[in-house]
Amino acid sequence: MPYQTVENVVIIGTGCAGLTAAVYTARANLRPLVIEGPLPGGQLTTTSEVENFPGFPNGVDGFHLMDSLRKQAARFGTRFEQTLVQSVDFSSMPRKLVCGDRTIFAKTVIIATGASPRMTGMPGEKELYGGKGVTTCATCDGAFYKKMDVAVIGGGDSAAEEALFLTRFASKVYFIHRRDSLRASKIMSDRATSHEKIHMVWDTAPLEVLGVPEGAVSGLKVKHVRTGVESVLPVKGVFVAIGHVPNSGPFASALDVDKNGYFVPAHGSQVRTKVPGVYVAGDCADHVYRQAITAAGMGCQAAIDAERWLAEHGG
Ligand code: NAP
Repeated sequence: MPYQTVENVVIIGTGCAGLTAAVYTARANLRPLVIEGPLPGGQLTTTSEVENFPGFPNGVDGFHLMDSLRKQAARFGTRFEQTLVQSVDFSSMPRKLVCGDRTIFAKTVIIATGASPRMTGMPGEKELYGGKGVTTCATCDGAFYKKMDVAVIGGGDSAAEEALFLTRFASKVYFIHRRDSLRASKIMSDRATSHEKIHMVWDTAPLEVLGVPEGAVSGLKVKHVRTGVESVLPVKGVFVAIGHVPNSGPFASALDVDKNGYFVPAHGSQVRTKVPGVYVAGDCADHVYRQAITAAGMGCQAAIDAERWLAEHGG
C-alpha cells in the first residue's frame, strides 16, 4: 500500500468555529488542515457590519473579521485546501474523509460546517440579499432599520425572536405567517402577538421582494392564502426566518443527529461526539444560540479537546 499522510487535525469549515479551532490547533503546533467549502468565511461574510463581536467598539465588517481570522490561523501554520467532503468513514483509525477522487486521512476531525438559512425562493429575495434589505439575521442587521417598517417571514421561535428583537429599532414589524397560528412556543407567541409594534399578518404567504433599481428593498408583495388577495407592504427590510438547514449531510450517518439534522454531541460535552477524536462545533451543532462568538467558543473547545486527545493517544 502506498504511503499515506495522516493529518493530526482536519477541520472542516472556515466560519468562526472552524477558524478559531484552526488558530488554537495551529498554535499548539499541530499543523491543522482546514477544508474550505463553497462559502469561505461562513455566514458572517454575507452580513455587512457586525456590531456584537467583542472587542470592536465601532463594529467590524463581517468579511474583514473573517479575513483577519483566516490570516491569524495561517500565521501559525494552518494549511487550507478548497474541496468538498462527500462522505466519511469513522469506523476505523485513521478517520477517512472522501473528497472527490482524493481521500484525506486524519487522527482527529473537527466538523464546523455551519448551517444555511432556509430561504423562500421568491423573486427578489436573492437579488436584494445582503446589505440591500433582505436578511436572515435581526441580531446582525436589526440596528440598520431604526424608525423604519420591516417584515419578518416565518412562524416559529426564530421568527418570533427576530420580530421581538426588531421592535427595539423598527417603527412597525409586520409578522407574516402562512397559517392562522404560530408554530413558536406559547411564551414566544404571546410575547410577539401582544407587542404593540408587531402587526400580525395571518394566513399570508410572501410572493416577491420589491426593490428600487439601485438595489434597496421598497416593499414586499404578499398574498392572503384563503382569499387570494394580493397586496404590497411598504417595508424597507425583509427578515426571512423560516428555519436553518445544518450542513451535516455527509456526516449524518456516522454521527448522531437530531430530527432536523443538527449534530447531537455526546453526553456531558458540547463538542465531543460518539466517535473518539471527532468533534463538532458551531452552528451545525447549535440551533439555540447561533452567534459568531458562541461558534468561536465551540471551535476553541473542540481544538483543546482534539489537542488533549492527541496527547493521550500519540499525536
Ligand atoms: P421552525 O420551527 O421550523 O419554523 C419555521 C417556520 O417557517 C414555520 O412556522 C413555517 O410555517 C415557516 N415556513 C417554512 N417555510 C416557509 C415558506 N417557504 N414560506 C413561509 N413560511 C415558511 O424553525 P425555527 O423557528 O428556526 O426553529 C427551529 C428550532 O429551533 C425549533 O425547534 C425552535 O423551537 C428552536 N428555536 C428555539 C429558540 C428559543 O428557544 N429561544 C429560538 C429559535 C429557535 P409552518 O408553521 O406553516 O410550517
